[in-house]
Amino acid sequence: MSLKCAICGKEEYTLLRANHKELGTIKLCTVCWSKEQSKNKLLSLEGGSCCCR
Ligand SMILES: [Zn+2]
Repeated sequence: MSLKCAICGKEEYTLLRANHKELGTIKLCTVCWSKEQSKNKLLSLEGGSCCCR
């Protein structure tokens, strides 16, 4: 019972939760996470960003 990356479908134990601009709240492997992050497709979910955009 493992989790899968929402983008590449790879099974990973460590998936990062992310708020994707197109896909909504998904879980990503670290590789896809940094890819999407560099494409600016992730909205910050953590870090107390509740206001200011
Ligand atoms: Zn992935």
